[in-house]
Amino acid sequence: MGSMSGPAPMPDDPLWFRRGENLRAWCACGHSAVMRLDAIQREHGVGPHTPVSRIVDRLRCRRCGGRPVQAGLARRGEEGRAAP
Ligand SMILES: [Zn+2]
Repeated sequence: MGSMSGPAPMPDDPLWFRRGENLRAWCACGHSAVMRLDAIQREHGVGPHTPVSRIVDRLRCRRCGGRPVQAGLARRGEEGRAAP
């Protein structure tokens, strides 16, 4: 029951339920990335029932290879190129 800064906290909803939404992750190196959840699911070969909160453990920074220090669902329009 805390107040995290940044985007909405990671839900325990399965990926299929959130597949149209974007995940934003931050790395300790300062890099951040926004990815569609369905793209992450395909890329990592996980099942659609995997909780969104679990997929973060599989992500690696494209710049330094580190694991994200924070992640959350991006708000709609935040990405700027995936308009509904
Ligand atoms: Zn990094």
